[in-house]
Order: sequence, then C-alpha cells, then structure tokens
Amino acid sequence: MDVLRKAKSALVAIETALERARPLVTCHGTDATTTVIPGANALLTLDEDGARRAAAAIDERRAAGVSPRPLDGLPVLVKDNLMTAGLRSTCASAMLADFVPPYDATSVARLRAAGAVILGKTNLDEFGMGSTNEHSAFGAVRHPIDPARVPGGSSGGAAAAVALGAGWAAIASDTGGSIRQPAAYCSLVGLKPTYGRVSRFGLAALASSLDCVGWIVHSAQDSALLFNALAGYDPHDATSSREPVESAVAVLARGAGGLRIGLTEDAAALAADCPVAARALARASAVWEALGAHVIPVAMPHADAAVATYYILNACEASANMARYDGLRYGAGGDAVDAARGTGLGMEVKRRVLMGAFALSAGYYDAYYDKAMRVRALVAEDYVHAFDGVDLLCSPVAAGVAPRLGGYAADPLAMYLSDRFTVPASLAGLPALAFPAGEVEGLPVGLQLTGPRWSEPLLHRAAHAFAAAHDALPSEISGGRP
Ligand code: GLN
Repeated sequence: MDVLRKAKSALVAIETALERARPLVTCHGTDATTTVIPGANALLTLDEDGARRAAAAIDERRAAGVSPRPLDGLPVLVKDNLMTAGLRSTCASAMLADFVPPYDATSVARLRAAGAVILGKTNLDEFGMGSTNEHSAFGAVRHPIDPARVPGGSSGGAAAAVALGAGWAAIASDTGGSIRQPAAYCSLVGLKPTYGRVSRFGLAALASSLDCVGWIVHSAQDSALLFNALAGYDPHDATSSREPVESAVAVLARGAGGLRIGLTEDAAALAADCPVAARALARASAVWEALGAHVIPVAMPHADAAVATYYILNACEASANMARYDGLRYGAGGDAVDAARGTGLGMEVKRRVLMGAFALSAGYYDAYYDKAMRVRALVAEDYVHAFDGVDLLCSPVAAGVAPRLGGYAADPLAMYLSDRFTVPASLAGLPALAFPAGEVEGLPVGLQLTGPRWSEPLLHRAAHAFAAAHDALPSEISGGRP
C-alpha cells in the first residue's frame, strides 16, 4: 500500500494501518447480528501499544539522522502460527487460545531488525490445515471484496488484511499452497520460497518437510524487499540452507525478454476442466510473448498424483507434530489428555491426526507413507526434466475464483482437490510466486511462476515485468463467474 510505504513518519503509517485493522479483529463470541464486513475476522490480535512504541523509536532514529533500514516503519502482520515474543500466538486453535510465546520466530526477529513494525496477528485455518480459512477456532475469515466468499487458506487472514491495507505485508506459512492460494484469490503477490531458504524457527510445525515461511504483499517489488531482508541461513533451523542469497531487488528491472516460460497444463484439458484458469493462462501467454519471452509447453507426467501424495505425507507429518498438544506440555482444555485434545483441537486437525496415524501404522506404512515418498521423488524429477528446457514454469494457482463460504462444508475431499496446482512445487521444495492475472466479474484470478531451487530473484524479475505489461491491458478475463 502506497500510503503505508510513503508515509513520512512511522507513527502516521502505523496509525493509518491500525485504523483499517481494528474492524477486522475477530468478533468471536459476539452475537449473530454483528455486521459481516469484507475481511471480517482477518485479525486475531492487535498490538497497538507495542506498534506505537516501535514506530516512535523509528521516528526518533530518523530525527537523529540514523541511516534508514530497508523496512523502516513499514507495518507488518504475522500469521498466528509464527511466534511473537510476548504476543499471543494461537495457531487459530482453542488449544493455544492463551499461549504467549517467550521468543520471536527468526522471520519475525529479522523483520524487526530491518525496521518493520509488527502490528498484530492474522487468522488462519487451525495450524495451517485448510484451503478456505473456515477451519479456525475463531471463526471464518471473509473475502476482502465479497463477504459471502472466503479469502482462501490457510493464510486467509493475512491475505484479507493486506488486501484491505491493514498492513503493508503479512508474513505467513505455505505447506501446500497456503500463501499462494489466498494471494491469488485476493489479487496479491505471494511467495513460497525454496524449502530451507527462509528460517522455519518459531513456526508451529504442520508438516515439517513441506513447511516454508513466506509472505503476502501487493507487488513483486515489495516481495523482493522482504526476500532480501528475511532469506538466509539460520543456525536455529537444522533445515536452513547455507546457499548464498542473491539479491532479488538488484535484478528486478531486468525484464522477461528471452526467458523460456514453460506451460505445465494442456490447454484443451484445462479449458474443459477449469475454464477460468485456462483463460487466465492463455491471456498470460500472450503477455509473456509480448515481453519477448518464449512460451513452451512442458509435460509433468506425475502431476496427477500430487494431491494424493501431498495429503498422505501432510497427514503423517501432522499427526506426529500434533502429538505435543496434549494438555500437559502445551494447551489447556481439560485435566486429561483425551479431554484436552477432544475439546482443544478442531475437526480438520482430528481428521489429519487420524489419517496420519493410520497411514503410518505398521500394517499400512508400506502401502501409504512409503509409496507416497516414492511418488514425491517422481514429482520432483518431473521438475528436474522440465528445467532442462525452460527457465520458469507458469501455471494456475486455483481452478477458479474465491469459493463461497461453506462451499466445501460437506466435502473435505473437494477442498483437498482444490490444492492440485499448488502442492507439486511444495513436494519438490521449489520456490513459487503467485501474482495477479486479471479478474472474472470483479473477482481476482492469480497465476504462479515456479523455478528451480534458489531462483527467487528470477521469479521476482519475471513477475515484475509481467505486472507492468499486464496492467496495461483491460483487467476482465472474459467469461462468467463459476
Ligand atoms: N490447503 C493445504 C492443506 O490444507 C495447504 C495448507 C498450507 O499450506 N498450510 O494442507
């Protein structure tokens, strides 16, 4: 948001963001007559005093002529599964409704060190499990344009709040699409970095071999700034990489001329199956070619197995990670483990604990977990072959526009299937960046670019060039709202 970025005083930027943020704070516990506004329930906690103190300190530094830091005075929101010292971090679970961590996640500490001001915490699907942000113990989040719809998930609160200008950016987690999908539904840019590029220290684990910390912002330029500030080795995270970080800001203006962009979807099949995504992709191909890039079809033979593979592995790892919430070490809700887990954990969490425990059990381990690990390797190999012939891949993020509230209520499997375009990059540990690619009847449609490991600077460069060329076109993608 320009007003937040260009404010002369940090305090002014923070007060502006706070004013927009207050109406979005969860109204859990209030009666049904509460007006449902766009973005309702996007925020779980606001730290007004802490934010004002931090902003005042930045203004003092400015007045004293101390040289500015890259994110000085920018109001940033934090998904509530990332730890913030002294500030409630609930994971949107009743189990952790009163949990106040004693330390900052590395990503939060790096934000503060770069001058960002932490404004508050965003709503999510409980522990990051979901694709709609309806699976929160604090209520569903409403879409920032149409409150009868959801903003996507699991980082729905982050996307809705940033879309409505309640923060310049939100940092979040993406295990199988939780940053990219809500960013796409809300006309924003979302980055899932390469696995190991941004520290996971202080992120409440969902599926540890897939979890990535990234962010939701308004532009590739803003995302590049965050990448430079947050990427890099962290001794607190055993899976953090020592690979040197190349600046995403430095290469941003180099354009997309000469890039080879692979299209992973068969155009005819996509048009029959997901017409909205197909139209967005066709339009994007024309933009890439106008920018001087070469568009090349690419086969991904194992993509169809990605959702099943992802959900088996996600449930297995989640069931192990959830074991710590037993009412003794973490969480309240009863004096016995069963009671604490019975009341403290929501339906979707219980479903994954059961599925994961089943798939890992002695009799089924080979049939599910072991097989899923083999298929994961095949999905990753598809990308290795693809990047022999192209620099980046361009694909849909979701089949259509943001779903209606309750649209998947009767069918969790349909919700899982909605992740078909985002989970492949997660299984392969590759970086993927979602970006706005037009609208259908006033609702945003996004696409994503996926690249080889450590290619975040190239992803930003291509998305930046795309945005400039795309903005010059009329925004409506022809065709009806699904
Ligand atoms: N929707 C996916 C799931 O429910 C992705 C979640 C995420 O990325 N945290 O697992």
